[in-house]
Amino acid sequence: MRESYDYIILGAGVAGLSFAHEVAKNGNSVLILEKAKVIGGLSQTLEYKGFLFDYCAHRFHTADKELLDEVKNIVGSNFTRHIQKSRMYMFGRFLKYPFELQNLLRAMKLTQAMRAVFSFGLKFIIRQLRALLNMERTDFKSYKDWFVHYFGNTLYSIMCEPYTTKIWKTNPGNISADWADQRFQGTKLVKLFKRIIVKLLKLDFSSYSLEDDSLAPDGGEFYYGETGAQDIPHGFERELKKLDSEILTKVVISKIIENEKAVEFTMSGSEESVHKVAAKKSIISTIPLHDCYDYVDRDKKEVKESLDSLKYMDIIFVYLLIDKEQVSNDHWLYFPDEDIIFNRSVEFKSWSKKMTPEGKTAICLDITCFEGDDTWNKSNQSLIEECIGSSVKVGLIEESEVFDSLVIRVKDAYPFYDLNYKSKLLKIVTFLEDKNVVHCLGRTGIFRYNNSDGSIEMGIQLAKKLIADESGATALDYEIKEISY
Ligand SMILES: Cc1cc2nc3c(=O)[nH]c(=O)nc-3n(C[C@H](O)[C@H](O)[C@H](O)COP(=O)(O)OP(=O)(O)OC[C@H]3O[C@@H](n4cnc5c(N)ncnc54)[C@H](O)[C@@H]3O)c2cc1C
Repeated sequence: MRESYDYIILGAGVAGLSFAHEVAKNGNSVLILEKAKVIGGLSQTLEYKGFLFDYCAHRFHTADKELLDEVKNIVGSNFTRHIQKSRMYMFGRFLKYPFELQNLLRAMKLTQAMRAVFSFGLKFIIRQLRALLNMERTDFKSYKDWFVHYFGNTLYSIMCEPYTTKIWKTNPGNISADWADQRFQGTKLVKLFKRIIVKLLKLDFSSYSLEDDSLAPDGGEFYYGETGAQDIPHGFERELKKLDSEILTKVVISKIIENEKAVEFTMSGSEESVHKVAAKKSIISTIPLHDCYDYVDRDKKEVKESLDSLKYMDIIFVYLLIDKEQVSNDHWLYFPDEDIIFNRSVEFKSWSKKMTPEGKTAICLDITCFEGDDTWNKSNQSLIEECIGSSVKVGLIEESEVFDSLVIRVKDAYPFYDLNYKSKLLKIVTFLEDKNVVHCLGRTGIFRYNNSDGSIEMGIQLAKKLIADESGATALDYEIKEISY
């Protein structure tokens, strides 16, 4: 380790790695300090008894061809294209996802379906009238406002309210509308619904059956590495090695000394020797805002209140190892019903045959929660039993097929967008970046609910701005383009 580097990066998730790659390509020296044993952050893959497990579904998709080509080059030829196959369990059966409205309506009770069409149609007409009068609404405060505006009250209460409440543990009325825009790729979904309404009006039901196993027509494409989501971070790591950049794992950071542009840290297991490295240019933080705040060595009282009420959501993954060739060929399945403990089931065998040993399969079931709440505090055994119970109930598996299991708890998995998150975030990031020493970056580092492509792109954009010596460069102005469901 040297005494100084051009850039010191905190966190080896894809945001930190892509930033490092971009600046290193341009001749800068780089040191990445990572707390975990492995790199990759949320895009990591675990190895367990011959199985490979991601943190739930991790598809790489982007509309930006240049970014896709760059990531393909970095990961290599094992990064292959897939067409998304997913379904949602509602009304006691698996429906295609993304929804085909006619498929959904036929699963509902007739009165429910009629109300859904009526309220959706009414909202549609209101929106058209508003557009004609140049009075289109953009001032949505909450996710509920946004959803009802586009889809009407009935679809809100059937689809949006239960699933959102299950995932976020709060009503959609308490979640910022920003999240909705990012999540649903707004206009695209509206286009899809319009097309479906036209089909409905023409009574075109020809190709729709509830049991239909074929691909959803609107299932998007995505890319995935042969040995899991971590193929992307590993690709960056290979490139960074060629550029002489250094990555240290198992690092325990103790301080960011701003007036020296330095970071003080020890290595886990040898806490007695304290290291100090300086950044000639900047320190890039991709770690949780609360950690970065703790490390900065100046009076921070003015932002403490904002920070205390800004929270990340945590997640538990329960992996069930199954003595069966395959559960289904879907990439993932959604479970909005409240009485099913998990939100999704992901079967990695559908993503790559290399993820599971022959003749066996595994499913990853995710449960969102907050550290310290009743769910987080449940014992592993009770989480496993509840997951098996729910999986049997929806017909995924038989109890006797489960031969092993694993439970992983992951903190800070989702930025939680409450109604006032934006003003709090602005205050905190402005404070942390104020001295032009620290720059916040990435999903976790700047509290942006984006996918891995967003974190990578944000890393590249910030690197380009800093290389160009743009004053006041910040990732706060990064615009999220797409987000997965
Ligand atoms: C359940 C789930 C499903 C997802 N599905 C998809 C998907 O389908 N497609 C997709 O593209 N994206 C998906 N994502 C999002 C994707 O995982 C993230 O956008 C991306 O991995 C974020 O990268 P990052 O570098 O911004 O943050 P992180 O991955 O959070 O990186 C931060 C790094 O900092 C390290 N760190 C934390 N604290 C410290 C500290 N104090 N000191 C030093 N290091 C520290 C962490 O260990 C980590 O390595 C999903 C995320 C989740 C949680």
